[in-house]
Amino acid sequence: MHNRVPFVVANWKMHMTRGPAEQLAGDIARAVADVRGVDVAICPPATALDVVGRALAGTPLLLGAQTMHEETHGSFTGEISAPMLLDLGCRCVILGHSERRQWYGETDVALERKVQSAISHNLLPVICVGERLVEREAGQTDALVTMQVEAAVGGIGDRPDAALVVAYEPVWAIGTGRTATGEEANRVAALIRWVVASRCGEAAGDALRVLYGGSVKPDNIHEFVRQPEVDGALVGGASLDAAAFAAIVRAAAERPA
Ligand code: PEP
Repeated sequence: MHNRVPFVVANWKMHMTRGPAEQLAGDIARAVADVRGVDVAICPPATALDVVGRALAGTPLLLGAQTMHEETHGSFTGEISAPMLLDLGCRCVILGHSERRQWYGETDVALERKVQSAISHNLLPVICVGERLVEREAGQTDALVTMQVEAAVGGIGDRPDAALVVAYEPVWAIGTGRTATGEEANRVAALIRWVVASRCGEAAGDALRVLYGGSVKPDNIHEFVRQPEVDGALVGGASLDAAAFAAIVRAAAERPA
């Protein structure tokens, strides 16, 4: 028994200019307006944060960003910092997504600093971890995920009260239509909780929300949210369709406590 509120995060990646983004945000907000007992965040591209923030104003949906620089300001061409995200009304930020690690060389060292910056600015970090197919096939999933989580939370030992979200996203499941099984997701989620509890304290482990991500759709979400260690989902492709995303949010809201 726990009292963690389920959480569903939409990652729109590099999709949509401002007009369609504002429209989709409004459609999602209307489609989930009657759903209670679940937190929902929408993470549009940076260029649409402003209009999506306006579309979500007055609703319980949270605005989030897809990445963030660890410094607050400076000579970092093209980057965006925590104070800038706060200025746009962001409440959370996805950090360490596998696409950032793969295409932009984001390291665990940078991730540790990004997590610290997010927490010190009161932005909820949604920390992404997960193994690639070669690592899975080599039986390295647990070791790799442990290392990634330890690195990400390594700098927050002095903030055991910090609110944290970790998304377990097997890289081979992202955008592929393949998913982990519910049992696998539950096992890795339990491992993640244990790592956070041992690094940041029991209370932080209990409060930690662990999401599953990787080809989550309306027809497979139940498999994940019925797992006791899985507190919701990080959703890419299916979050670009208001009806599909709303169905996922509804399923998460009905999750057994
Ligand atoms: C993601 O981008 O984090 C993701 C899980 O994508 P998809 O749902 O499309 O697999």
